[in-house]
Amino acid sequence: MPRILLIGIDGLSLELVRQWADDGYLPHLQKMLAAGSSGLLRSTPEFSSPQAWPSLITGVNPGKHGIFSFLQPVPETYEVRRITSADIQVPTIFSLLSAAGSQLACLNIPCTYPMEELNGVGVAGWLCPSLRHNGATWPPELAGELRQRFGRYPFHAEVKHYALQGRYERAVNVALAQLHKKSEIGKYLYQRQSWDLFAIGFVETDAIQHYFWHLSDSNHPQYNPQQVQRWGNPVLRIYQAIDEIIGQWRELASDDTVIIIASDHGATLYNRGRIYMPNLLRAAGLTVDKPPNPGTAVAALGRKLGERLHQLLPKAVKMRLYDNPLGRRAVESFFSRRLTENINWEQTQAYSYYWETAPWVNLSSRQPQGIVAPGHQYEQIRAQLIELISSATDAVTGQPATSRVFRREELYSGPHLDVIPDIGVWWNQKITLEGPLIADFEGRRLEVEPAILVPGITGGHAPDGTVIVYGPGVRSAAKIAQVRIEDITPTLLRLLGQPVPGYMDGAVLNGCFTEPLPHSTDRAAERGADERRQGPAYSPDEEEIITERLRNLGYL
Ligand SMILES: [Zn+2]
Repeated sequence: MPRILLIGIDGLSLELVRQWADDGYLPHLQKMLAAGSSGLLRSTPEFSSPQAWPSLITGVNPGKHGIFSFLQPVPETYEVRRITSADIQVPTIFSLLSAAGSQLACLNIPCTYPMEELNGVGVAGWLCPSLRHNGATWPPELAGELRQRFGRYPFHAEVKHYALQGRYERAVNVALAQLHKKSEIGKYLYQRQSWDLFAIGFVETDAIQHYFWHLSDSNHPQYNPQQVQRWGNPVLRIYQAIDEIIGQWRELASDDTVIIIASDHGATLYNRGRIYMPNLLRAAGLTVDKPPNPGTAVAALGRKLGERLHQLLPKAVKMRLYDNPLGRRAVESFFSRRLTENINWEQTQAYSYYWETAPWVNLSSRQPQGIVAPGHQYEQIRAQLIELISSATDAVTGQPATSRVFRREELYSGPHLDVIPDIGVWWNQKITLEGPLIADFEGRRLEVEPAILVPGITGGHAPDGTVIVYGPGVRSAAKIAQVRIEDITPTLLRLLGQPVPGYMDGAVLNGCFTEPLPHSTDRAAERGADERRQGPAYSPDEEEIITERLRNLGYL
């Protein structure tokens, strides 16, 4: 049985890796591309971290794991709350392997806070406030040990904070220092014993790409050669740091280790589309506001101050605020109200939360003051939404603003569709929307300005990330196609001789290996594990298998 080292890198773009490896900037990744198998890794339907990381560690799409975004609507209200690892509705690879007795480590993987019990060690990832908090590590004593040895754990890159102040060099240095510190702590744990699966995640790449894409991509409208001269290319610098770290880990890993590098999504320019959505729905009359009253001006001022305060607070302070239940409630309900306080629900057919792109229908059977009846009326509103959003163009370039608008069940499947907005949108990633958005609705021409501003963000997510597989039994210089993020977990299970449960959406990546990986002897659980599953729900015997496994793991 091989050992596995899984290195998860948020937002790692295969296009950039290949280009910079060819240019000689990434010698270690260059070696791994040449001696291993690699390909684009298709992310979840809306290619955002809070839905993609859970898919990577469960082998299922968000309709089955139950997380759409980092904020989730609270049922029967219009409010939202922050997700935790407890919202993941199926066992993670770490639960499955712990139950099988494997030795494992799970470090810095987003959406794992609070850290679950596992047969090994864990440090929670993104959304974990600090080592002092319950659930930061497994076992709990590990927190004290790490604190003593390494000081403050680098959970949060303050990249945004410094980038917005124009302190670019500081922003990049903070991210690089954090990346190296996480790697050092990881190595300390790695060298303690031998592991069946050692998983370590890095998210600093994503933060740097969000704030510095315009210094890396000469097609970006804000690309400015003088700035590049002054600041260099922070995206290249973080890729070089990743390359150096990967080189160190490759040296550390024993010869029987298969190394898998995987990202939750790729990277491209930020198209700004989502910031128009609330106003697009307003302009079409689908979202209706209450008439202004004297109190509204005061409320608006309060809101502005609150937002400004939220922007100015360093992330560490915000996370401390978030970690206090009362503080979290206050922040969440502040942002919930920001969306909802002006909406007249009795006349609103559809609305969108401003941090997401996707609209919800105000459904009478679901929302507290819903006015749209399920069935025919619901479908009619969805058809209108698709027509409206598809008609949108960029006033500056005349280009279409979106590349695909879809009903949720076209791309998601499973028992948790209720956490997913009714309509999904892919914005046109070839352009960045600068002026107003022009759209047609029922014969009217609409001109729409952004609902909010997102200062400083120039890089966005792309649907295809990266997968690189390297080590014994792996085909060299092989390019693998049509790999999906849900394929990682089944592949890890099969590599470790464990059955792949039938409910998983992913398939084993046999194409990476010189010989197909042997099936586990657990025939019932393995059934169909090499075939892609596209169907919307489980078959009756799949249902039985998942029920059985969830029961064994204490989920039911
Ligand atoms: Zn991101």
